[in-house]
Amino acid sequence: MSRFTTHMYTALEEARAAAARGEVPVGAVLTDPAGRVVARAGNRTRELHDPTAHAEILAIRAACAAAGSDRLPGHVLWVTLEPCPMCATAISAARIARLIYGAADPKSGGVAQGPRIFAHPQAHHRPEVIDGICEPEAAALLREFFATRR
Ligand SMILES: [Zn+2]
Repeated sequence: MSRFTTHMYTALEEARAAAARGEVPVGAVLTDPAGRVVARAGNRTRELHDPTAHAEILAIRAACAAAGSDRLPGHVLWVTLEPCPMCATAISAARIARLIYGAADPKSGGVAQGPRIFAHPQAHHRPEVIDGICEPEAAALLREFFATRR
């Protein structure tokens, strides 16, 4: 297991749990500078009637509340899918040090495509980005989920 996959399995578990709730299967894990898991979440937009309840936002909210801070310097966010522009903006605002994600999201991604939030001149903070970690597993979850909904 490489150091980039360590917590992606937990994020994938969260994504599977989200699918079981009828949510788009995306999972996220936040680790602190010591490498401890401080938050984990899956999408809950339908359950909470909240279009902002993406896995990343829920994990960032929980970690910030626990830390008593609106910033998470030195933290790493692991997500099964490329974050959307909203989540990428929140990641930047929280000063998260590194973003590790699985599958690319050509439809709604905002990191490597679309608005490319971190490359934008208005980005106040650019995390290190590592993509393609556990990509086959993350992409398969999404494919299966949307196949059963058609
Ligand atoms: Zn998002």
